[in-house]
Amino acid sequence: MAMAVGLIAVPAWSATSGVVDAHSAQDPARSVTITDIDSCPVLGEKDFIDSWGDPRSSGRRHEGVDMVAERGTPVVAATDGDAEFKRSNLGGNAIWLTSDRGARFYYAHLDAWAGDSRRVRAGEIIGYVGQTGNARGDHLHFESRAGDAAVNPYPLVAPVCLPTATPTGPGTLRSLLR
Ligand SMILES: [Zn+2]
Repeated sequence: MAMAVGLIAVPAWSATSGVVDAHSAQDPARSVTITDIDSCPVLGEKDFIDSWGDPRSSGRRHEGVDMVAERGTPVVAATDGDAEFKRSNLGGNAIWLTSDRGARFYYAHLDAWAGDSRRVRAGEIIGYVGQTGNARGDHLHFESRAGDAAVNPYPLVAPVCLPTATPTGPGTLRSLLR
């Protein structure tokens, strides 16, 4: 598999195996491995559920996690990497973050960017929650990608974004995902 050096391989994640490192996850359907996230992409209060694969307009499927927060809530880099700020009809004010470990993260619907495209550190403020583009209600749409394949970001963000999440060993992630 021609993945960048530093990607963490974990056991296939299935209903029966039940064990996965709390900071990495693998989508068994696509056999894609993706790295961990160092900072929750939304600072401050937010609410989110696992909505991976939910139907969306024009027959699309949801390929990310929607983190609901008040407009203007700071959005930060999930990892060290290169942030590219881009505008599109669908994503509105959006950001592509390419992590130093090779994964890519997509942020959409920002009310505003913080600064311009640049090298960023995990936790650095890069924008603010809004509803630009094809969005209803203020939220951050957040995707994780390994190569061209989207991977469910929920198991990645849950451990770093949920205040009750204190991953201590095997099984923790599954209990978070109940
Ligand atoms: Zn979304």
